[in-house]
Amino acid sequence: MQYDVIIIGGGMGGLTAGALLVRWGLRVLLLEQGERTGGYVTSFKRSGFTFDATGAFLGGCEEGEEFYTILEQTDALRHLSFLPIETSRNIYPDFTLDLNLQGGFEAYISGVKGLFPQEQRGLEQYFSLIRKIGEEINRFEGRTWWHTILFPFFFWHLIRYQRASLGAILDQYFRSAGIKQVLATLPAHLPPSRLSLLFTATLITKVLAQRVWYPRGGMGAIPQALERAFVEGGGKVRLKTVVERIEVKGGRVQGVITKEGDFFSAQRVVAAINIRRALHDLLPEAYRRRVSGVVRGLEYSLSSFLVYLGVKIDLDRRAYPYFTYISPGDAEVEYEQLRKGEMPDDPSMIITIPTLLDSSLAPGGHHIVRIMTPAPSAFRNEWGWHDRSRYRTIKDEMAQRLIRLVEVRYMPVLSERIKVIEAATPFTLERYTANEKGATYGLAPTPGQIGVGRPANKTPLRGLYLAGHYTRPAHGIVGAALSGRFVADTIMEEQRK
Ligand SMILES: Cc1cc2nc3c(=O)[nH]c(=O)nc-3n(C[C@H](O)[C@H](O)[C@H](O)COP(=O)(O)OP(=O)(O)OC[C@H]3O[C@@H](n4cnc5c(N)ncnc54)[C@H](O)[C@@H]3O)c2cc1C
Repeated sequence: MQYDVIIIGGGMGGLTAGALLVRWGLRVLLLEQGERTGGYVTSFKRSGFTFDATGAFLGGCEEGEEFYTILEQTDALRHLSFLPIETSRNIYPDFTLDLNLQGGFEAYISGVKGLFPQEQRGLEQYFSLIRKIGEEINRFEGRTWWHTILFPFFFWHLIRYQRASLGAILDQYFRSAGIKQVLATLPAHLPPSRLSLLFTATLITKVLAQRVWYPRGGMGAIPQALERAFVEGGGKVRLKTVVERIEVKGGRVQGVITKEGDFFSAQRVVAAINIRRALHDLLPEAYRRRVSGVVRGLEYSLSSFLVYLGVKIDLDRRAYPYFTYISPGDAEVEYEQLRKGEMPDDPSMIITIPTLLDSSLAPGGHHIVRIMTPAPSAFRNEWGWHDRSRYRTIKDEMAQRLIRLVEVRYMPVLSERIKVIEAATPFTLERYTANEKGATYGLAPTPGQIGVGRPANKTPLRGLYLAGHYTRPAHGIVGAALSGRFVADTIMEEQRK
């Protein structure tokens, strides 16, 4: 059968592109190598517990916001409901900060100001800058020809801060190390000196300063809803199907060939997978040069190590919020160690307890406690994965180490109460999703890999498009979904022409 569009990869980028394109009347085939769609955004079950494999929260879920609008347009919204995440707790070596995640920008600002009254002036200037950048990003997304003609006038901050790191701006406005630690606590696996200021502003204005959500039923509910909407709209999904080649003839994409040797024909292919695999491994050699510039010099984000625990415990909800971040102090030192392939003795950790939001995820009287920490894929010769028993040992040792750290710093009785334990290494993340080196967020959000510095959604090869967290606009559940939206918009625009 001839399709209008073939999508490789059923993560958030691929699913969103597919679900939108079928709604707009195109014949779409989605090929996914795994046993289910979702990519990183998935849940798995063990002994009555439903664990989230990776994600912990998302923004943009209220009417009029970006993710909500995508869900509405794809018709996936009716299969989903979101639970508000009320607070987060950030524990630093010398102080703790509880943030109200339901109060919008003002609550975020006042939470930070309350802890650092002496930094009042710097905070006002910093948040005013973040707000202005956020406004320009919104304007850029809805820009008209008028904005484009008068670009420097409408986008002065975007131009000025395109290459700025968060660290440089924090050093300009603040003196105390504490406030810099707080303002650099962001889901990016990068220290302030390497993190893009524009990305930071996007994250604060679009996620932290909006309300933050968790899907009822666990993270896997999101891809399930999108897949359902895609299929109901007429889309075809083939699971357990690895695409091994993108066929190109006369400079134009013709379709894809799977590992089993099946050929599927379409003049447009969306690769919503690891970018090097898409633009190098899958392309015929003669065409690789045409796109080699897109992948040259790209930097992946660090990977992660996760421990999933099913515990029999009675938790005091006032003592334990859903989301807790434990900071080691100096993010720059931690990052340098991770870059060398070492795991720090005292790593930063995110602890989430989703059963506080949705008790149906565990049997009665039980909770889920998940620990996540940044991790290098190179640790101890790639986690010893070439030797099964060595891999098992390294993985178990790391899981036990993190459990002990959480016990000492946060939840004293944890290890006595564990009923189920699972762990994931960077290798696990790569094995399930083919994200090279288990890159947590695809491309690292450095100043050089933001905005126009990020690979475009349309490649120089006719008929080949990119979606997902290696491309524009950004990483994350919503970032990848938006990339799918950008691709769908581009394809529809071309169809109309
Ligand atoms: C530990 C962790 C925690 C995270 N926490 C959050 C969070 O709290 N909030 C948030 O917003 N984001 C979070 N993220 C990031 C977010 O999950 C990702 O940025 C986003 O889901 C990426 O979506 P994607 O579509 O780009 O790719 P992926 O999720 O990687 O999906 C790609 C899909 O393509 C398939 N595939 C690959 N190659 C082939 C092939 N050759 N043929 C067929 N199929 C193929 C894979 O199997 C996979 O299903 C987290 C990520 C990790 C790893």
